Amino acid sequence: MTQRASVSDSYPSVQQELARLAGSEQVRSAFEWFRLQESRFAHWQMEVARVAAPPFGEAARAAWLAGQFRELGLSGVQIDDVGNVFGVHAGFGSRYLSLSAHIDTVFPAATPLHIRREGSRIYGPGVSDNGAGIVAMLAVAGALNEARIEHALPFVFIGNVGEEGEGDLRGMRHVFATPRWRDAIAYSVIVDGAGSDTVVAEALGSRRFEVIVRGPGGHSWSDFGAPNPILALARAIDAFGQTPVPASPKTTFNVGVVRGGTSVNSIPESASMRVDLRSTSMAEIDRLEGALRVAIERAVDSENRAAAGHGARRPQTVSSDVIEIGNRPAGELDPQARIMKVIRAVDAHLGNTAQVQRASTDANIPLSLGREAIAIGGGGSGGGAHTLQEWFNCDGRDLGLKRILLTMLTLAGAGE
Ligand SMILES: [Zn+2]
Repeated sequence: MTQRASVSDSYPSVQQELARLAGSEQVRSAFEWFRLQESRFAHWQMEVARVAAPPFGEAARAAWLAGQFRELGLSGVQIDDVGNVFGVHAGFGSRYLSLSAHIDTVFPAATPLHIRREGSRIYGPGVSDNGAGIVAMLAVAGALNEARIEHALPFVFIGNVGEEGEGDLRGMRHVFATPRWRDAIAYSVIVDGAGSDTVVAEALGSRRFEVIVRGPGGHSWSDFGAPNPILALARAIDAFGQTPVPASPKTTFNVGVVRGGTSVNSIPESASMRVDLRSTSMAEIDRLEGALRVAIERAVDSENRAAAGHGARRPQTVSSDVIEIGNRPAGELDPQARIMKVIRAVDAHLGNTAQVQRASTDANIPLSLGREAIAIGGGGSGGGAHTLQEWFNCDGRDLGLKRILLTMLTLAGAGE
């Protein structure tokens, strides 16, 4: 993916703008503020991680964030219908640059949130994903306020719900379905997790299904010959598992959960599986979905035919249901996109090395709509995401914060 780094005609002007910004009094004082305020950032991070935010249960954290937005001087602070939190830092244009971080976690409501600090490290569920992103958003808002930085495009800060798992990007989907924001957000910078060494510019799409096969059930001896949902499901898995996939665009499938039956001597009444399809190409996901549906239909037919052949006492059949349980659109950033040139130039300026990556993040939504969007980390380093052993190391957080601030200011253009 190194071809993404190709130098284009507009590169020098981005670099010039960046050099001018980085040399300005206000930006220098914002950088100094980032360096001096680390203990405040760590405090915010521990505080937010202690407010539970399971999928579909983010309201308490949203209220906490709205309070922080107000304290940091953002205007128009509000929470929308689905629970996304907004705050604006005014500029002079009518289109916006959004800086967003998801506020939900993967942890169920009852998870004990023991958040603790040892030296430069913070431990506990959600401290990096997305405590680091939420703190980066607050730090940038704080720096704009402290250093009185002006910029042309206004900024909208968004703490959005529903990024993880079954949330299925519902928060970001709602932002881009809302007339006020849909066409107004020109650039989206998404902060997800820790680190400064990646740029997500390709949206990995996924579609997930629950497949349920139901039948009459019965006794394994006396009802022998009745169609069997587990056998039908097994045939479907066998056939679908042989579906060819291209190496490029990279496309994958997985049968991740299989359930069914009640006892060894009962013909089951139902069997189910969960299937995950992924690709950077929507066409490939569509093709895989088609193959899955055909495999299931054929498997059900052949199980019903086999049962009829056994001369079951009364006509009995199995039937199937395919329920979509997740859908994240795929998309790619145009290699010539301005946001890519800017982040590249910022990384060069900061002496930072970053890799372009493909992932499933909130950026999927704007990227799938052809908008300019990237997802980057909130600085520092972290690990153990989605486990109770999750950690964040504050060392080097200011590099990540500088990277975000410079990217935003360069994209937005100078204020007067
Ligand atoms: Zn995340």
